[in-house]
Amino acid sequence: MLTVDNLKDLKGKKVYVRVDFNVPQKNGVIRDNNRIVAALPTIKKLLEGDSRLILMSHLGKIKWKEPDPAKIEEMKKANDMAPVAKALAELLPGVNVHFCPVTHGEELKKAVEELKDGEILLVQNTRYEKGEEKNNEELAKEWASLADVYVMDAFGSAHRAHASTVGVPTAMKAEGKPVALGYLMLKEVENLSRCVEPSEKDRPYVAVLGGFKVSDKIKVIDSLLKKCDKILIGGAMAYTFKKALGENVGSSPVEDDQLDYAKKCYEEAKGRLLLPIDSVVTNHFDETPDRDIKTVTGDIPDGYEGCDIGPKTAEMYKNELKKAHLVFWNGPMGVFEQKDFQAGTIAICEAIRAIKGEAFTVCGGGDSASAVKQFGYKDDFSHVSTGGGASLEMIENDGHLPGVDVLR
Ligand code: ADP
Ligand code: MG
Repeated sequence: MLTVDNLKDLKGKKVYVRVDFNVPQKNGVIRDNNRIVAALPTIKKLLEGDSRLILMSHLGKIKWKEPDPAKIEEMKKANDMAPVAKALAELLPGVNVHFCPVTHGEELKKAVEELKDGEILLVQNTRYEKGEEKNNEELAKEWASLADVYVMDAFGSAHRAHASTVGVPTAMKAEGKPVALGYLMLKEVENLSRCVEPSEKDRPYVAVLGGFKVSDKIKVIDSLLKKCDKILIGGAMAYTFKKALGENVGSSPVEDDQLDYAKKCYEEAKGRLLLPIDSVVTNHFDETPDRDIKTVTGDIPDGYEGCDIGPKTAEMYKNELKKAHLVFWNGPMGVFEQKDFQAGTIAICEAIRAIKGEAFTVCGGGDSASAVKQFGYKDDFSHVSTGGGASLEMIENDGHLPGVDVLR
């Protein structure tokens, strides 16, 4: 696969860069510009070559199934990319950043034609086009015709086969134009690939899996069972496993339609899949002042639900992580949004900190990554993925993502 470092003679060339500028924003106020900052190394590298950049990204959601056109217009307005262009310009002093308010037709073509060497054109939200999420071929061809080179740097969108992520590079490849990976993509793909194909020196390879639903994670569990030496289970999904093994889990969240799967998984793992031995439980999920919270070992009493792994489990998991040379973590150990149920997730963070420099540690998943950042452990990891769904899909599909495979 080509990377931005392999692209030569870019002067005057029009480069289409698929970035991930899907920033959290409301009414044009951007709450967190991390995603824009993350794309800067690739943007700067391409500008050094005096190319002309056409940046494309989606922003938020537009529900095209909505029958009322006025409501569609409202959704478009709420996800207007114009404020992002302003934020980008502020991060790149001295660079001309233009904004094209439309996503197709003569106005877009003209904006691209007027672009000068070393300038940037940020195009309106790709989801303004109904054909984007359907990977409409005509739309992809129109966008592909605008540029000479394709660069993919939107890791968070690489698991989606949309027009802007798969249709465009497909069309550009067919025209013999170069397609390449940006720096952000490269880093993500390299780091996650190591979790997909561990080498001998990566053993023991330990996965930590938590989060809400077993059913969301079946493919991840199956994939990790093939690769890992140990899988440490936490989060709500642990209770589906525990119930499947005949334990009483009180009113813990359980997916009854996954009990057979959980049992089969546990048996096939032959001791490699570890479950919590104690839990922090409550009789009231909502944070009422009079709710009862306690730690129980083994069975959970009726009327109580498990909201975090307990201290004995945390200790047991820490001991497993101490020995690890490679760690992949997805899914918080408990309801980390509530103070009373943060300890399990923090214990895993501490265990990762303790093996810093000795093991390669990766965290992937939307909520897990935000927990790691919230608790201040981001720098203790070798890699915290920027793509929630994309990082999981990469593990599930043995390293394959539509937005990456198309560049091979
Ligand atoms: P990720 O986004 O990292 O893949 P998930 O989306 O699968 O993780 O799970 C995160 C959610 O799981 C969090 O909102 C957290 O509150 C919830 N969760 C974790 N443990 C429990 C539990 N024991 N009971 C209820 N919810 C839980
Ligand atoms: Mg999540």
